[in-house]
Amino acid sequence: MRRRVLIGNWKMHKPAREARAYVNEFLPLIQHISNVDIILAPPFTSLHVVKEAIKDTTIGLASQNMHWNPHGAFTGEISPAMLCDSGCQAAIIGHSERRQLSHEDDNKVNRKVKAAIAHHLTAIMCVGETQKDRDAGKTSDVLSHQLIEGLSGIDTIDTTQLILAYEPIWAIGSGTPATPTQANRVHAELRKLLGTLFPASTTESIRIIYGGSITAENIQPLLAMPHIDGGLVGGACLNPQNFATIVDTADN
Ligand code: PEP
Repeated sequence: MRRRVLIGNWKMHKPAREARAYVNEFLPLIQHISNVDIILAPPFTSLHVVKEAIKDTTIGLASQNMHWNPHGAFTGEISPAMLCDSGCQAAIIGHSERRQLSHEDDNKVNRKVKAAIAHHLTAIMCVGETQKDRDAGKTSDVLSHQLIEGLSGIDTIDTTQLILAYEPIWAIGSGTPATPTQANRVHAELRKLLGTLFPASTTESIRIIYGGSITAENIQPLLAMPHIDGGLVGGACLNPQNFATIVDTADN
């Protein structure tokens, strides 16, 4: 039985003062949660504040990106060791906004995933197809390419070190999520593909989460699907009460 995980991706929102206020409001609302892992992914500049605010809780901390190099002349980049130093246990890698806006390709995603794992950070690796891919019937091809390339050269993995996020780009921020059946079908395919890379016990344990216009209203039927192990939440996590409701639904 895979434990559910809910990740709140704040994107480029919430500077330090707002981040602190968010966590102060969020914590009392999720005190009773026992069956769900919760991870917050604030912007880099708020990591230290969130780290401090969640220090006596089981909430995890993730970055929204990272570089694969340990140090060096990479202006504007943040290394895996710096993230560990900032209190992160995880890093979102290959988010579609980075793939699209920052030309992050599968090769870079692969380097980042490997570097994250080497630093004992959980890689939250995102894959997803565009509307154009979908219309052309290429969803499976695109996803299998992203998955195989993103995990290339990784022969063994501790299942706590990878979370796979299926984020159809047409669903992100659109207000229209994939239907539970659509998402579940894709997750089942992704799990089958993982089975070509890793032993069955590993494949069965890796969590595959869905992201794309999740709300407190639509999360329940998504989570009722056997292959959906949680969610990566963007817009709806920005309000602590909303995110707490989503987490609470996942806990039941
Ligand atoms: C995301 O960008 O990871 C995401 C899922 O965003 P939203 O929930 O706003 O669609």
